[in-house]
Amino acid sequence: MRVAVGLILCMLLPLVPLSSALPDSAQEEMWPGDPVDNHVHMTWAAMTLEVSGWADDYPGIVDLADVGKSELGKSLWVVRLSDWSMETKADGTSKEIIYIDGGHHGNEYLGTALAWLSAKWYINGWNEGNEEAIQVLQNSEVHVLIMLNPDGNDIDTRWNINQVDLNRNYDHYWNSCPTTQPGSSAFSESETAANSNYMNTEVPDADLYVTMHTGVWIMLYPWGKWPEQPPDWELFHGIREDVNGGISEIPIQNANQGLYPNCGTSRDYGYGVMGFPTFTFETDDEQFVPGSFEALEDRLGEEMDVMRYLINNVWYWRARLDVQSITVDAETLTLDVVNDGMASTANASLEYISESGEVAWASPYFEVNATNSSTLTFSVDKGLFTGDGMWNLNYQKRVINAATWVNETVEINASFIENDEESFLIGYGLFNPVSVLVAIVGVAAFANEKETRRKVDDDDERNGASEN
Ligand SMILES: [Zn+2]
Repeated sequence: MRVAVGLILCMLLPLVPLSSALPDSAQEEMWPGDPVDNHVHMTWAAMTLEVSGWADDYPGIVDLADVGKSELGKSLWVVRLSDWSMETKADGTSKEIIYIDGGHHGNEYLGTALAWLSAKWYINGWNEGNEEAIQVLQNSEVHVLIMLNPDGNDIDTRWNINQVDLNRNYDHYWNSCPTTQPGSSAFSESETAANSNYMNTEVPDADLYVTMHTGVWIMLYPWGKWPEQPPDWELFHGIREDVNGGISEIPIQNANQGLYPNCGTSRDYGYGVMGFPTFTFETDDEQFVPGSFEALEDRLGEEMDVMRYLINNVWYWRARLDVQSITVDAETLTLDVVNDGMASTANASLEYISESGEVAWASPYFEVNATNSSTLTFSVDKGLFTGDGMWNLNYQKRVINAATWVNETVEINASFIENDEESFLIGYGLFNPVSVLVAIVGVAAFANEKETRRKVDDDDERNGASEN
């Protein structure tokens, strides 16, 4: 019955004004769609009107992109939110990137609704002068693909029009565990192909990916494929501690244990192939959306608090190394480095780039744990750190093999110790002529290399997931 009414309402949509019984202010804020049996069914047509309205009304912060078509040819819309008058943050650094999708399963309205609300909350906040919303939009880009499965949504079914479970159709251990209807091959469906294309081309540097569903109230982090904790367990556990420590009691678990073994999901793909910190947000124990925006905000208020926390703190969801000092004496280079981020990194190295642009020296790989400060020493030989070279830091943003690499110039100069007993030329940098004269240190002896490589190998084993 609900399906039939939904279809009829969908066909009538262009002819009748939405929610005509409500006052104007409520209309503006309502979950778009039509009442069907005590809940609101947001059709793809209603959502298209809604997001087009956002783009028309708020071009300064809303950029609407058509990023592919469903199997039946409906546009997959991504609402891209940021203060588009600024390409970067005020300090010139890149904005943080957040990716959200909803509606893989066409009958999970509360999941789609949370994706919709995540966009709407920042649009309303910006327009009302809410400081938190302004901060977020000035410092990040929030990309929201509200409805990934419009064909399934409009006929109220879990599957897409080809009877495929889109959340088993991703190219990460596709069809390698007991599952139903994963499709004929990974990315056989236009919806999942479009979603992965968007991840790879538009938001490859995202530091948060949340995919929204409903049915059991829980947040799931990788893996679905394996019961083992993922390489970045520290980050996921840290987030759980924060969320459960005052924002929400929502259970947060490894998907395989929290729900059941599953593979070929967008969550495992997002983490294992893209290297994003990823959550499946199972919004509620139910599927339907109640009838008004106020009720929706209440119903999903706690879930929205969790989303706001994840988005406000996106800066922390990676390793963020900050070199405090580099000190060189005749035989040893000492590196003091702080990790301001909540993810560890296992493959960091410090490099000395000579004037001619060659890597004249590179440390062996080292680890820096999350929220930690480390002092590392490397054996070096004389004579290498001469001339107007520069220091460079290379590391992966997270432990997972797929994590994006960071390659950045270290903004401080090294301190050179003239000899072991004598004066300490603190503050005399590499580019100071005195320092250059006393720069008598050289090629790495790689004394620590064996140890460090062994650790990396261990991580590779734990990272097995990303090797397909
Ligand atoms: Zn689902």
